[in-house]
Parts: sequence; C-alpha cells; structure tokens
Amino acid sequence: MQGILDEIVGHVAPLCRQGEVASYIPSLGEVSPDKFGICVAMADGEIYGAGDWQEPFSIQSISKVFSLALVMSYDYDSIWRRVFREPSGTPFNSMIQLEADRGIPRNPFINAGALVVTDRLLTLTGDASVSIRGLLRLESGNPSVDIDAVVAASEADHGHRNASMAHLLASYGNLENSVDDVLASYFRQCALSMSCEDLAKASLFLARHGVAAGGTPFLSRNQSKRVNAVMLTCGTYDAAGEFAYRVGLPGKSGVGGGIVAIVPGRCSITVWGPSLGPNGNSMAGIAALDEFTARTGWSIF
Ligand code: GLU
Repeated sequence: MQGILDEIVGHVAPLCRQGEVASYIPSLGEVSPDKFGICVAMADGEIYGAGDWQEPFSIQSISKVFSLALVMSYDYDSIWRRVFREPSGTPFNSMIQLEADRGIPRNPFINAGALVVTDRLLTLTGDASVSIRGLLRLESGNPSVDIDAVVAASEADHGHRNASMAHLLASYGNLENSVDDVLASYFRQCALSMSCEDLAKASLFLARHGVAAGGTPFLSRNQSKRVNAVMLTCGTYDAAGEFAYRVGLPGKSGVGGGIVAIVPGRCSITVWGPSLGPNGNSMAGIAALDEFTARTGWSIF
C-alpha cells in the first residue's frame, strides 16, 4: 500500500499546475497549487500516507458529510421531508432549482441543501459547527482540529449568494432558525481545517458501516449505506457521474481541494490537491483516486 501511494504522488504531480486554486476568498487563493497529499485509513486502524498528508487544509464542503451524518444520527429520516436526494446537475451554489422546487433543495450537498441540514443540526444541538467539530475531533483522535477564524470571517464577507439562498429557504418556511444563525454556523463548518490524515480517520465510520472510533455505534448500517449513497450520487458537484465513472466510489469534495472517498467495509481515502477543475473538484485528487481504485481493484463496481 505504501508503495502505491508514493507512486501516485509522483504520477499526479504534473496535474497540480493545471486547473485553478479557489480564489473567492483570499486565504484559499494563497495556498500553493503544488501541495498534494493522500491518506488511506483501513477499517482495522492501519494508516498509510504520502506527500503533504499531514498538512491541514480548509475542508469546505466536505463538512457537509459530517453535518448530514450527525443529523441522521439524532433524527434518522425527518430531514428528507426538507431536502431531496437527487443529483442536481447544476453548480453547488446554484439557486435555479430551489425556486422551481418551492424551497426544497435538490440534495444535502449543494449549498442550499447543506444550509437546511445545518439549520436542523442547529435546532438539535444548539450549535451546529461546534457539534461537527466535536465529532471530527473524536473520530480523528486529534483534539486540535479547529475552525480557521480568518477563513470563517472571509466566508461571511463574501457570502452574498449563500445569504440569498438562506433567505429564499426562509421565505418558503424551510428554515427553523434565523438566517443569520444558520449562515454563521454554515460558514464556520466550511472553515474547519484538517489534514488528509485527520479526515481519513474521521470518515472511517462510513467504511465501518456506521461504527465509530473505539467500536461504538454512531450510525446504523442502513444509515451509513444511505450517506454513502448520497455521496456517490451528489458528492462531487455537477461531476458526480464523471467521478463515479473514473473513481467508482462514494466521495465528497470541497473547494479547498480535498476529497474523501469511501470503500465500504474496507477503508477511507482522503486526497488533497488545491487546484480545481471546471466543476470545482481537485484535478490531481481525482486522478489519484482513479489510479488508486484501478490499481487496488477497490471500487464498488
Ligand atoms: N464555503 C463554500 C461555499 O459555501 C463551500 C463551497 C464548497 O466547498 O463546495 O460557497
């Protein structure tokens, strides 16, 4: 395994200079495109990593997996009355379907859907971003996992589109909390900073059919199946079909250049390469996962 990861890092290096690093907030735009890390966390606890796998980065939309998992852990199915679970085929921050669907977002991983999930988590726990951070600290075993306050503040400064989505949701009665509270929580969860190692460990419960670190049940086997299914169909923006074709695993990406992928029953894999392709997914990251599943045969297909 270690040899495969070392070789992958070498193979994808030329891709790091293609595409563009997200620049909608200054702190993301400052990250070097030459960074690349990969980590595999096996279900039995073994960890393998190569490249910049221990360097923290902004997890951004990857946080949406953990907010959904938390809501389902408290409240199994009720979230699905407020959000659909179909791929959107539109960019992550699109609002076109939201109005057509009368305030029910297409899935929990586009921004509109994630705002609804965060709203629910806020009601259930009193503080959505703190409960997500708590889960991530516990599962990664790293108590220093934290929210980058500078990134969170920039998200708020540049958050007009998310704010308009939240107001549209509220106008349809699909928010339980105030627009300001939901947005503040959402911006903070996007600004969580973690390494590939932290994230691979933290998402391992999805490879272990819902069993958390230490062997305690977090999600039921069925809930874990459902989160993985939504990742497969909706986890990589409007390129989920391309991701399934190339990688063949449930996955969730973020504009910070990270991607988490799950091999149910076997392992979780995290990659990080800040340079993004046209659909907002890490170019080097997808190439690395493509090579990983091709060489190991560990795709779900
Ligand atoms: N903070 C970003 C936004 O809400 C997250 C985007 C992403 O990673 O998809 O616009």
